[in-house]
Amino acid sequence: MIQNLIRKNIKAMEPYASARDEFEGIGKQMIFLDANENPYQNGINRYPDPQQKELKKRIAVLKNIKEDSILLGNGSDELLDLMLRAFCEPNEDNIITLPPTYGMYGVLANLNAIENRQVLLLDDFQPDVKSIVSTTDSNSKLLFLCSPNNPTGNCFSDDAIISLLEQFRGIVVLDEAYIDFAERESWLNKLQYFPNLVILQTLSKAYGMAGIRLGILYGSSEIIAILNKIKPPYNISELTQDRAFSGIANTAKIKDEVNTIIRERNNLIKGLSTIGFIKNIYPSDANFILIEVDNATTRYNQLIENGIVIRNRSSQPLCNNCLRITVGTPLENEQLIKILQLL
Ligand SMILES: *Cc1c(COP(=O)(O)O)cnc(C)c1O
Repeated sequence: MIQNLIRKNIKAMEPYASARDEFEGIGKQMIFLDANENPYQNGINRYPDPQQKELKKRIAVLKNIKEDSILLGNGSDELLDLMLRAFCEPNEDNIITLPPTYGMYGVLANLNAIENRQVLLLDDFQPDVKSIVSTTDSNSKLLFLCSPNNPTGNCFSDDAIISLLEQFRGIVVLDEAYIDFAERESWLNKLQYFPNLVILQTLSKAYGMAGIRLGILYGSSEIIAILNKIKPPYNISELTQDRAFSGIANTAKIKDEVNTIIRERNNLIKGLSTIGFIKNIYPSDANFILIEVDNATTRYNQLIENGIVIRNRSSQPLCNNCLRITVGTPLENEQLIKILQLL
């Protein structure tokens, strides 16, 4: 079924074989005169492993998943782009997105000349399953679900996700960038039951490594093999591979920070509820909170004047006069509430 979804040119193409692809280490100390590198050792003079084997091994153990179900990207953004390029024929196919949601899905669709069919979330920010199914046609290749959703902060119900996995004829891309802050479990342990499911996670949020750019895509080995064929050969730098390898091993520190952020999120909600001009505080399963205020532009500018930058999401559908606030350190959150009380 997946084979029928691949773009024709990509199905037919031979991948580029890099020097490091052609020669697999045989354990012996070799002299490498194959890749036109500078031979003088400085830690980064060699091209990085194109398959990031050591890092994938560690992720596989951590997430209890097979290595050939993992693809790494230069941020989730590269992985989203690879999905579009592998499965969507420009000027012919379409994707389905559910606004208000992450802006990159639409941007990347536009960049790749793929139609973006938008089906608004319902008033409770859950997917409108009926409407999604009726918007879909045989050219609908990808459906993007973001859960917990950015900017609304909520998780989509299991019922909605299952129902879409069962009814959508293309691939469902479930973006779990914020899953570590949610009460709900990741869908990762259900991956094997849904051949048309792809899950995205990232080191940019809970893992505290936005600066190294590492996104993780999980899918069937069949889907991973297709994406591997078209990814840039050395898409993950040596520095990123090293830093990710040591960073993700620090599970106690990561857990601790996530717990603190969740606790702070709840404190912040209490603080925000004392502010008169805040009309609505939406529940959050993420490390940010969406609020509705009297006048988003005015409040946004007032906070800037006071040295605090948040995100104005008013231009998004269903988000009239809404601001998105990332949970900061306890001190930062305290300062935010103090300033809001004075406005
Ligand atoms: C922040 C975020 C990401 C992460 O993107 P990276 O390119 O991995 O930093 C992915 N999806 C959503 C919805 C996000 O908000």
